[in-house]
Amino acid sequence: MQTMSSSLPTYGEAAAIVAEYARKLVDSSHEVERVELAAARGRVLARAITADLDQPPFARSTRDGFACRAEEISSHAWVPVAGATHAGEIPSGPLPQHAAWEIMTGAPVPAGADAVVMIEHTERAADRIRLLDGRSVSPSDNIVAQGAQSRRGDELLPTGTVLGAGQIALAASCGYPSVEVYARPRVAILTTGDELVPVDETPGPGQIRNSNGSMLEALVVGAGGDLWMTLRAADNAESLDAALSVSAEADLLLISGGVSAGKYDLVEPALQRLGATFHFTGVQMQPGKPLVFGEAPRAGLGKTLPFFGLPGNPISSAVTFLLFAAQVVRALGGARETAPGFGMARLSRTTDRKGKPGLTRFLPGRYSWNEKSGSMDVATVSWHGSGDLPAFARSNCCVVIPEDVGVIDEGAMVRILFL
Ligand code: AMP
Ligand code: MG
Repeated sequence: MQTMSSSLPTYGEAAAIVAEYARKLVDSSHEVERVELAAARGRVLARAITADLDQPPFARSTRDGFACRAEEISSHAWVPVAGATHAGEIPSGPLPQHAAWEIMTGAPVPAGADAVVMIEHTERAADRIRLLDGRSVSPSDNIVAQGAQSRRGDELLPTGTVLGAGQIALAASCGYPSVEVYARPRVAILTTGDELVPVDETPGPGQIRNSNGSMLEALVVGAGGDLWMTLRAADNAESLDAALSVSAEADLLLISGGVSAGKYDLVEPALQRLGATFHFTGVQMQPGKPLVFGEAPRAGLGKTLPFFGLPGNPISSAVTFLLFAAQVVRALGGARETAPGFGMARLSRTTDRKGKPGLTRFLPGRYSWNEKSGSMDVATVSWHGSGDLPAFARSNCCVVIPEDVGVIDEGAMVRILFL
């Protein structure tokens, strides 16, 4: 077991270990189920979505106006309106020479027309129109050609795509009332600690409520996992062994607490008794330094059981989940993209005055769009350490301070982790 912090992987090294592990998991086999499109948000495609028709299925006008030949109409001469088509109809004939055809947004363009001129750019007198002076029209203006977006038979969404509103709309447009998706990975959450009482109880002296249970449940669901089992263990070997023994059928085990260096941090020894292999037992980061990642053998079940031992402090638990465990949840669910959500923002205000070179730090922060400067700003949220849930609840990101940097000055661009 690693004990000296100098032998611990850096955040970057630990992230690379988990990313590589996740990459292999994505390629392994996953169970498949069918869901109605209405229930598909957040699910991961197990079978590609293909186009059953050209999209658009016909040359489509994107404006209310007049289908025309760009060259003819550009003379600004009056031309007769030879017909009219609105969305849902098909043109009754081709566009005659030296004529225009009234057309509505979404309607098929008549054969022979190569452009649509916007109604606002024309003047009309009875059944004739002309292009207003100062306006011009070029071929293909305001027309989306048949098949311009995709061709019949094209693969539009590959397997492993996470379905959001846009992807669901695309599947609907291709005639999929339901889709095949991967089964959600079954995640077991084990919270440890003698001091914990259930949420609906009033803590006695020295006790606190088990908030990590609820938080991790929300994080697991958010990452596409299925909360399969919640377990509780006290800080003793028997209780931990009993809880670990029933978690073996999960796809992933998350353990909260008991991984620091204290006398009652008994999770690592319990995992060792199971015959676990540890990929790392600590990371040079803050919060989250005690994080443990490994795999345990499963009698008779073939594949090993991946586990994370998350530090018990709530913010440490959340940050390490988002940076590491969420990748494994997504990968177990077959998602192609498993990386955490990062962005950049301008550090508008910071309360952080203590540099901790050697540790990558994740400080609770709040980003917001600055209308005046036209940039994303982020300010650190003042906090009392990684147990400060009120401060965490005021945050929507973490400001990332790289390990080779002490304090970051206000005004600098910084990396942020979205919460
Ligand atoms: P540990 O990692 O077990 O040493 O716990 C570190 C800190 O996190 C202690 O202050 C614990 O009381 C707290 N903690 C541990 N587990 C939980 C939990 N499930 N919910 C809220 N706080 C917790
Ligand atoms: Mg504990």
